[in-house]
Amino acid sequence: MSKIPLSKCFVNPEVEEAALRAIRSGQYILGKESTAFEAELAAHTGTAQCVLGSSWTMIVYCLHQLQGIGPGDEIIVPSHTAFPTMEPLIHLGAKPVFADIDDTFVMDLAHVESLITPRTVGIIGVHLYGHPIDNDKLLAIAKKNKLWIIEDCAQAQGAKYKGKTVGSMGDFGAFSFFPSKNLTVLGDGGCITTNKVDYADRLRMLRNHGRQGKYDHEFTGYNVRFNEINAAIGRVMLKHLDGFNENRRQIAARYNERLKGIVQTPPVREWATPVYHMYVVRAEKRDDLQKFLKEKNIETGVHYPKPNHLQPAVIGLFPYIPKLPQTEKAVKEILSLPIHGEMALDAADKVCDAIAEFYGKK
Ligand SMILES: *Cc1c(COP(=O)(O)O)cnc(C)c1O
Repeated sequence: MSKIPLSKCFVNPEVEEAALRAIRSGQYILGKESTAFEAELAAHTGTAQCVLGSSWTMIVYCLHQLQGIGPGDEIIVPSHTAFPTMEPLIHLGAKPVFADIDDTFVMDLAHVESLITPRTVGIIGVHLYGHPIDNDKLLAIAKKNKLWIIEDCAQAQGAKYKGKTVGSMGDFGAFSFFPSKNLTVLGDGGCITTNKVDYADRLRMLRNHGRQGKYDHEFTGYNVRFNEINAAIGRVMLKHLDGFNENRRQIAARYNERLKGIVQTPPVREWATPVYHMYVVRAEKRDDLQKFLKEKNIETGVHYPKPNHLQPAVIGLFPYIPKLPQTEKAVKEILSLPIHGEMALDAADKVCDAIAEFYGKK
């Protein structure tokens, strides 16, 4: 059987042409393509502004710096997320306070509320695997306690909550264009979406050495800029995003139907339009199942095997290590099955056949 990959990047002649167009333009950094990509991303998300940067991690670092985050500040984050979610704030001396998850794998908002202290300044809500968090509840908690919200949309580009696109509801949305994400630029990249024009203006300066004009540096900044070739590619990818997300939902529907009663399929809230960056099941004998699927040439993943609050990089920083029972249980059971924008239903069927065979349910 030919290999069924966990994910796959879309490339077609239109994508290649876009890269050539940028190469031939003679302008390579923060030019016309980047400006157009920012406008198109803002329109797709439903925000006034979008600011591109060299990655999610670095543009969020810049944002945190503008927010004035520093020592003594506490920010509530899930532990069950990609490590970068809380990396920038650690660099600024702030403290990530880890929340547990609910059955949809996103932050348990009742637990979030219980973690708020006088030092809490904000919450990073992660729409993990492409399933949105309950934004109305999250925003109500933030408003009551005067906290800011960053939506980590790195795995959820195009996902909707009650019809609203993620990245448009919190104070800021943060996206990644790394090759595995639902929208990639075939390289590194990221952006911040917001309706706060003053922040967007300063973020554009901070990412580019704090300058206004060519030689006027109003403050010291960084090089967290974006490249034209990636922007040109991203603009093509964005045109296909909604179609690819719809395909992901169809693959997920097939998995849901065929895997019911064999493994625990991922629950979806009635207000959610997920985009299945990952299709994650809970499986008995997970490691054996993964090995079995690998022998059948089916690639799977575990996102993530070790929660962030137990990572060596984090454990040494804080005297107190929280207990997060739902997170610690989930990491032993979760398995990400193949899914991407161009995946065919019969590939999903092959995955289901193999899983049924493993459990003797064929
Ligand atoms: C990929 C990812 C990031 C980091 O994005 P980069 O562009 O690689 O810096 C942050 N948060 C989540 C949830 C991610 O999946």
